[in-house]
Amino acid sequence: MQASTIIAPEIEVPEGQEYVRRGGPDADLVAKQAAKSLDQPKLADTLAALIPGECNLDLIVVGCGPAGMVLAAETAKKGLSVGLIGPDVPFVNNYGVWVDEFEAIGLRHCLDVIWQDTALYLDSDSPILVGRGYGRVSRELLRAELLERCAKAGVLYMDSSVRGIDDGATGSTVRCRNGQSVQSKLVTVASGAASGQLIEYEKGGPGVSVQTAYGIEVEIDNYPFDPTVMHFMDFRDYRGAGAGHANLDDLEEDQRPTFLYAMPITPTRIFFEETSLAARPAMSFDELKRRLYIRLKTLNLEVKTMHEEEWSYIPVGGALPVTTQPHLAFGAAANMVHPATGYSLARSLTEAPLFAAQIATALEASTGSASGSGRSMKEAACAAWDGLWSRERKRQSAFNVFGLELILRQDLDGTREFFDTFFRLPEPLWKGFLSSSLSSVDLLGFAFMMFVKGSNGLRYRLIEHLVTHPQGLRMLQVYAGVETGPKPKQLAGTVALAAFVATVAYMMTSMGGNTS
Ligand SMILES: Cc1cc2nc3c(=O)[nH]c(=O)nc-3n(C[C@H](O)[C@H](O)[C@H](O)COP(=O)(O)OP(=O)(O)OC[C@H]3O[C@@H](n4cnc5c(N)ncnc54)[C@H](O)[C@@H]3O)c2cc1C
Repeated sequence: MQASTIIAPEIEVPEGQEYVRRGGPDADLVAKQAAKSLDQPKLADTLAALIPGECNLDLIVVGCGPAGMVLAAETAKKGLSVGLIGPDVPFVNNYGVWVDEFEAIGLRHCLDVIWQDTALYLDSDSPILVGRGYGRVSRELLRAELLERCAKAGVLYMDSSVRGIDDGATGSTVRCRNGQSVQSKLVTVASGAASGQLIEYEKGGPGVSVQTAYGIEVEIDNYPFDPTVMHFMDFRDYRGAGAGHANLDDLEEDQRPTFLYAMPITPTRIFFEETSLAARPAMSFDELKRRLYIRLKTLNLEVKTMHEEEWSYIPVGGALPVTTQPHLAFGAAANMVHPATGYSLARSLTEAPLFAAQIATALEASTGSASGSGRSMKEAACAAWDGLWSRERKRQSAFNVFGLELILRQDLDGTREFFDTFFRLPEPLWKGFLSSSLSSVDLLGFAFMMFVKGSNGLRYRLIEHLVTHPQGLRMLQVYAGVETGPKPKQLAGTVALAAFVATVAYMMTSMGGNTS
């Protein structure tokens, strides 16, 4: 069972992309966020203990975040014997989700606040009402729900961090920091965005970007917005539009755009968050905090009581996992975070049953591999990987990374214009884009409609981005299926696709439209 080994070294000095994924220069605050102590039941008090050598495991899931817990429960429900290994820590992040997405997977009862509508402010004081309900996930309720599902399905649990995985033809050995080793047929890593020591990612492509946000849950008087509406994205200038405003622009060191995200829990208890949608390098928490307090001052708001601070650090984009490696990944570890929004919670919860079925099928097909009649565990893993990151999913991801790279190039005005156009698209398009549910063909329609609805300025930037950014060509290659060494026929397909996009673009530009 020792064909290949990936071991997390005892002294971890992350480099390159992994350094960024762990928090870069803000790694201490990222660690502080992860180490928050909240009163939630211990997994070890509810789940039966995983004792090495006493069980014959089909699957080990590494990591007890939402992705790991839901996958453990779903695979165990399929009849697999499943072990869950990871530190016994609470859910600490303040998650927000679209209500319809949580409703669709039967988790509405895990939302502790629901807003019937969602508001967006670009550069005027009139909100754009999106017409979609938004909810705050109760960390306690979601974790309790997933824990109950794990318990019911018979998931076994061990409280330890994992330091390495040894993969062999008939199974894998998970080596834990508590000194124990546990064997199983397959392993799925769900240890979050910074999993580079357990999972191998593709080389090349654009580097990882980061969505950062500094948040505070506070008591205030005179909340200036409608407390029954989710204040989703407020791109108005955090310094207000007062005198001297234009001159200040020149003095700002970091002119990258940020927006206010505010959840009115009650009319006086508010979760405010200043957010950088995506940046490379990441915008620092210091800068976000500075902007948030200036914004509150501009709004004449004074913090009376501080309940909680949040340091939200979400790596977005970057490389996909290598889909031929012998163990699997899920959730943020599998780069399932939407590159252009930073969301992944609803996607992981929604896709877990399907991925669980793919794992179960792959394992079933491997039965008898010892006698040569079935597939090896590596082949089983590859089959499951193909389900999670199919060609179609890779096309969607390439498109979304193209979108992310476009967002990274926008200044404040460009960002406002982008979202103004985005929310004027037909509802199924913008909703589908946010939910990662548009097919790769739908996404071309989405781009086309952005082009049609956008100003000439936005059209120009879209075309320029497609033609000049390496991700433009990469996206076309992935769509044409020639990302690794084009064959002449496929190359012709890429060129034809590029020519088609350019022709449509040219025609639309010549037809005129909004001007910016
Ligand atoms: C503050 C914050 C707010 C966010 N808000 C939203 C939001 O509103 N909506 C949304 O959709 N997304 C949001 N995200 C992004 C994303 O959905 C979350 O990061 C989500 O928690 C990812 O789930 P996960 O289970 O994949 O990983 P994680 O939640 O990161 O869980 C990983 C688990 O693995 C464990 N682990 C780590 N290393 C090891 C190891 N070596 N061995 C064993 N276990 C290990 C960790 O202790 C942790 O329990 C937010 C992220 C952050 C940080």
